Amino acid sequence: MLKIIIVIIAVYLLFKLITGEKKHKSQEQVTKKVETGEMVKDPVCGCYVSVNSDIRVRDGDKVYCFCSYECRDKYLKMLEDKE
Ligand SMILES: [Zn+2]
Repeated sequence: MLKIIIVIIAVYLLFKLITGEKKHKSQEQVTKKVETGEMVKDPVCGCYVSVNSDIRVRDGDKVYCFCSYECRDKYLKMLEDKE
């Protein structure tokens, strides 16, 4: 009986280790996508969004992508305040 409990704990720890590593790997993938230009930083909240995002603003030659319309509106307001 005790053996079964130990096995369950071992499996649980292994599961935690695997899921923890997966999280780490996905973060590495984001960094890689940023380096290859697949993902860009949302200038408002700082999270990473795909360059194919529909929520974007063109400012001169630069195109900014946003995670949400809320962030886009905030950025547009910031531009308005600058002028
Ligand atoms: Zn955002």
